[in-house]
Amino acid sequence: MIKELHEKLLAGKITSEKLTQNYFSKIKKKDEKISAFLTLTEDLAMAQAKKTDEKIKKGEEIGILEGIPGAVKDVICMKGVRTTAASKILDNYIAPYDATVIQKLKASGAVFLGKTNCDEFAMGSSTEKSAYAITKNPADLQRVPGGSSGGSAAAVAGDEAVWALGSDTGGSIRQPASFCGVVGLKPTYGRVSRYGLLSMASSFDQIGPIAKNIEDAAIILSEIAGQDKRDATSARSAGKRYEKYLEGSIQGLKIGFIKEHFENLNKKVKNSMENVLKKYARLGAEIKEINLPHIRYSLPVYYIVMPCEVSSNLARFDGMKYGMRIFDQQDSDLEKINPEERKLREIYLDSRRYGLGEEVKKRIMLGTYALSSGYYEAYYLRAQKVRELIKRDFEKIFASSQKGVDLILAPTTPTPAFKIGEKNANPIEMYLEDIFTVTANVIGIPAISLPADPVDWEGKKLPVGFQLMGKWFNEEGILRAAYAYEKSS
Ligand code: GLN
Repeated sequence: MIKELHEKLLAGKITSEKLTQNYFSKIKKKDEKISAFLTLTEDLAMAQAKKTDEKIKKGEEIGILEGIPGAVKDVICMKGVRTTAASKILDNYIAPYDATVIQKLKASGAVFLGKTNCDEFAMGSSTEKSAYAITKNPADLQRVPGGSSGGSAAAVAGDEAVWALGSDTGGSIRQPASFCGVVGLKPTYGRVSRYGLLSMASSFDQIGPIAKNIEDAAIILSEIAGQDKRDATSARSAGKRYEKYLEGSIQGLKIGFIKEHFENLNKKVKNSMENVLKKYARLGAEIKEINLPHIRYSLPVYYIVMPCEVSSNLARFDGMKYGMRIFDQQDSDLEKINPEERKLREIYLDSRRYGLGEEVKKRIMLGTYALSSGYYEAYYLRAQKVRELIKRDFEKIFASSQKGVDLILAPTTPTPAFKIGEKNANPIEMYLEDIFTVTANVIGIPAISLPADPVDWEGKKLPVGFQLMGKWFNEEGILRAAYAYEKSS
């Protein structure tokens, strides 16, 4: 889609201004129902579109993404634009700088339509935990789009943006991509700079693309990848033009699958996954059953370490430096403290009490508990040790060319999109949504979700995705295998 639009721009068949306006009118028509966007950046978008058109008119060269409109999850800072992380506490926060990914995309000439809805501070799997709106799934408006990057996935699936950025800490790019029937890629940890991303859990967070097809995802990744001195965890590698690595046969490619992943799966989803495996076999891949003994601990490891990092990262939102400050003087708990100190403490407490939502507070409390003296060894430290064991299983399976595999295939989600409200009663059920996605974050490998055969579900045909996971920094490997599948569909 991006390439096609690029060629049309070059041939003068469309202008970026028309294209961008066209997307804004689609947003105005559709977003009342879908609620993918929290903020529109019309002026910024039109200025960039105009610039692109002028360049084309003058016969200047333009980049592949130049003039092509996309959307950005509202956890990524864009200078001069409201950036809320879908939280009340950042209701009035205007980012004073651009995230590195935004800087890079601006340099590429990309057009920004606006900021998309998500679960508050990216914590959730349904976008129901946003303080502002519940985004609906364009495939069925009764259903969630997944989360936390639900707004970005819905915007792309609902044709309100050509491409979008999401962030993925435990599945937040891939799970909504699966629910909405689009492509979502979580790069290797360190591949894309996190500078300017409102941190959720820093040892897991990665920014990545959501797009209509594999080539588009590859193009966006090429634009945002690379080392950044402002993010100490960014890898030294420069990244590649990933779209150049898509073609070619996957004959002999070894794809592993884990029996347990398929065994307890819903029959319809299982059937869809088996069709994927069959198709890969037809394409010449060698399908192998593999055993990763520690992978079943991924979810518990994630739900211990992630809240610990959350509790530390979100300490900065205390009504002082960022966002809103609340002081309601209703609190009598602090009566014994001298008035000045009491005022400060009340601001901290009130700003956090009113500014943060339930899910966020729950995770801060869980994390604070797990890190507290006396519990640290039993929870955080032990979880980090198990994390290392999971990593070693994967190192082994990717290292040996005889016994090992090149890629691992898994479902992205246990079911297609669930109904709005369906999983709110029991948080564990919501957390179980992440069972197949968290491993890639726990050990930092790249993973992509792309549409498998849709399933008949409660009277509808609903999208469902499958995942390909690869070795650290082997984005081109998973993209190439994903492309081969997409092309043969
Ligand atoms: N659904 C997961 C969670 O709630 C993942 C969130 C994410 O990747 N940002 O933590």
